[in-house]
Amino acid sequence: MDSKLPEAHRLKVLRSVLGAVNLGMVVVDADGRVVLWNAWMSRHSGLAQVDVVGAELLAVYPELRGGRVDAAIGQALRDNFPSLLSQSLNKAPFALHANAAAAARGERLQQAIEITPIAVEDAPRHCLVQIRDVSVAVAREKLLREQTMVLRSQTFADGLTGIANRRHFDVAMEKEHRRAKRAGAALSLLMIDIDRFKAYNDHYGHQKGDQCLIQVAAALAAMLRRPCDLMARYGGEEFAVILPELDIEQAGRIAETIRARALELAIPHERNGEVPYVTVSIGVTSQRPQAPVDIEALIGAADRALYDAKKAGRNRSAARPP
Ligand code: GH3
Ligand code: MG
Ligand code: MG
Repeated sequence: MDSKLPEAHRLKVLRSVLGAVNLGMVVVDADGRVVLWNAWMSRHSGLAQVDVVGAELLAVYPELRGGRVDAAIGQALRDNFPSLLSQSLNKAPFALHANAAAAARGERLQQAIEITPIAVEDAPRHCLVQIRDVSVAVAREKLLREQTMVLRSQTFADGLTGIANRRHFDVAMEKEHRRAKRAGAALSLLMIDIDRFKAYNDHYGHQKGDQCLIQVAAALAAMLRRPCDLMARYGGEEFAVILPELDIEQAGRIAETIRARALELAIPHERNGEVPYVTVSIGVTSQRPQAPVDIEALIGAADRALYDAKKAGRNRSAARPP
């Protein structure tokens, strides 16, 4: 295009543009000396153009020496090779700050850095360093990550009691079942059910019923000490406990301890028959290492054992092999 505008005017415009861009721009010559330092750089570094131009970039920022930026500038000058330094791998290499207060706190801008070799008329290759402030994007990403973690933990927790929910149970059961099979280990399962809970609700009201569920769930879940054990809310007033590597006798003893602990809470339950406190019945089953069964069979056996315990008078545990 044949421009009628004088070259001098266009240079002035170019200078204004360099001052206006919302981006750090540094040009380094073949000897690593700063040739250009735009207003954005002055604003965020606290270093005026006159202090920096002509100095070696590594003298201005000694901490860059031997790092990713130093290597990338070398590659650009020597091999004509451009680089992108993402923020996630390179934590804020330049001492650049949002403002004086942030500088005083030592808080750096999060930086995405682009290093580009540039040809310059009548001179060896130079290198353009562009620095973008990605602090907002990084903060947003961090917030999203945290929210995702909270959501994930919520999808595995029961809304009322806060202990593991049915979905968590299903996932954990799959995992432990596979592991038991692979390792040739035992795997036990308890089904816990609160006795005459319908009568509790009818007598004390649904809200008291909810409080009772919360209290019982918290107390019983706190009894499990191994990280591999899991107690989940399986249904309304029913809880399931996964006990890896325990045989049916060991699991039976744990069931008895859990049953006794529930009674120990001494939550009044006038309509519970001869024991006027909230009690639980527990079904116990265990898969032997030599005879693995599928998960449905294990749950079915624990259910039948629970039914046995109910029929035998409640406030007790009963065991059945799968
Ligand atoms: P059993 O001794 O045979 O187990 O008798 P039960 O009354 O406990 O058994 P049933 O299954 O007939 O009743 C369970 C009751 O649990 C019925 C329901 O109202 C109550 N329930 C289930 N989920 C909740 C809940 O989230 N909150 C409250 N308050 N009650 C619940
Ligand atoms: Mg029930
Ligand atoms: Mg019940």
